[in-house]
Amino acid sequence: MKGPIEAQLFINNKFVPASSDESFALHSPYTGEVVAKVAEASVSDVDSAVAAADAAFRSWSALSPIERGKPLKKMADKIMAFKSELAELEALSMGKPISAYMDAGYAAVHFNYFGEAGYAQGHTSLNTPGFLNMSLKQPFGVVGIIIPWNAPLVFFSKKVAPAVAAGNTVVLKTSEKAPLTSWKLAQWIEECGFPPGVVNVIHGHGLISGNAMGLHMRIRAISFTGSTRTGRAIQIASAQSNLKKVVFELGGKGPALIFEDADIEAAVQGTEFSIFWNSGQTCMANSRIYVQESIREKFLETFKKAASQRRMGDPTDAKVNHGPLADKAQFETVLKYVDIGKESGGKLVLNENGTKANATAEDLTVHPVIFTDQPEDSKIMKEEIFGPVVVINTFKTEDEVIAKANDTEFGLYAALYTKDLERALRVSKKLESGMIGVNCASPQGSWDLPFGGWKGSGTGRESLLESMDHFLETKSIYFKVTGIGG
Ligand code: NAD
Repeated sequence: MKGPIEAQLFINNKFVPASSDESFALHSPYTGEVVAKVAEASVSDVDSAVAAADAAFRSWSALSPIERGKPLKKMADKIMAFKSELAELEALSMGKPISAYMDAGYAAVHFNYFGEAGYAQGHTSLNTPGFLNMSLKQPFGVVGIIIPWNAPLVFFSKKVAPAVAAGNTVVLKTSEKAPLTSWKLAQWIEECGFPPGVVNVIHGHGLISGNAMGLHMRIRAISFTGSTRTGRAIQIASAQSNLKKVVFELGGKGPALIFEDADIEAAVQGTEFSIFWNSGQTCMANSRIYVQESIREKFLETFKKAASQRRMGDPTDAKVNHGPLADKAQFETVLKYVDIGKESGGKLVLNENGTKANATAEDLTVHPVIFTDQPEDSKIMKEEIFGPVVVINTFKTEDEVIAKANDTEFGLYAALYTKDLERALRVSKKLESGMIGVNCASPQGSWDLPFGGWKGSGTGRESLLESMDHFLETKSIYFKVTGIGG
């Protein structure tokens, strides 16, 4: 790297410093080196971005879907052309190994799809005598998008693409831990043909610019992915301001249920990847694994062996598949949970300290940690850790494991492994979760099925088919027509 990147705000198709001139340093979680100096958006910068978006709304929403789609499709091409650079920026800022980088492909699919799918449709009705009624789907105006750090480009694309395809203009706030890929995309916004103000990208901390977005009277809807705690704060801010619509994708504490007739190798492969991919910093990771008692030893030994083979090191090295945690705060939180787990009565069967033999003093890697026999009511069974820490507990009966799996305030993704088809269907129906993997585990999903959680894991569902609807208001028009009859 030549020197720290200067990441400015992107408002009205121009890069600008923060109005307060404040910035913050972004450190590599592997080397500790400062990789970027990032502008800290102030409340006044939020106002400027919203004003730019507001000014752009009328002409942008008046374009045909084909015209609005053109810049989206160009953005998809740009993302694929610069895929390696984007992977490297993420590895530098939040430590995701380049070998685990799926985000560019995901983002390109979303920009391409919504580049063609912007045809919002209401419906018509002749069911009221003397009337020809119709409903319209119309954009909100300015929408706010707030994203987390674990897969920034995934969230940028799955929210910005449907929002602008629907005719809205947006203000997107990046995560203070991983702003660089969004900053990179901002460099292409004008070149792709987005008019000034249609897509504004700001950086900074949640309590300043994020809070200002939640409270902003001109932002009519917010789509948010992040923690359940922040989701609550945004809901409160919405209630305290203009009751803006909120769509939430929040945290998880996913269970995986391994029945004794399961293919154990496949179950280990799926569940080990689910929890340790991206060093456990995945909302849908199966952080609680329940194994039927008769296969406990075999499952545990195979799982331990797989986890011990993770290749740790520099996330920019293509051979590495287990990188550091995103930053010091995340690292300390995860180690605190490891200590809590040690105290709560369970056994720790892999990597007692969470870290050992890290390559550099600044390296924030936490090695895979496996607990067994944790009390079901212990803190590490109840709270989202967001790190490479898994608990493997056991069960005797189907009813018992369903009760344990559902005994949580989260409900994002549950997995189950069995060869018994009827059991798979029965258990799938009873699990309180927005997504269920049968003989597979997260992140397995599909582009077109609803993605999202029950209970504290969220309020909306996103997918190629669902997402645009979040960014559209509905209007009913009751049209009296003389002589139309009944
Ligand atoms: P976070 O909630 O701390 O931060 C997310 C974003 O919200 C950041 O941009 C942050 O600056 C902003 N923010 C913080 N406080 C705010 C406030 N008061 N008002 C407005 N914005 C505020 O989450 P994180 O640590 O970045 O991400 C990890 C969390 O995200 C985990 O809980 C994870 O499960 C969740 N997540 C969920 C999904 C999903 O699809 N369900 C996907 C990825 C991550």
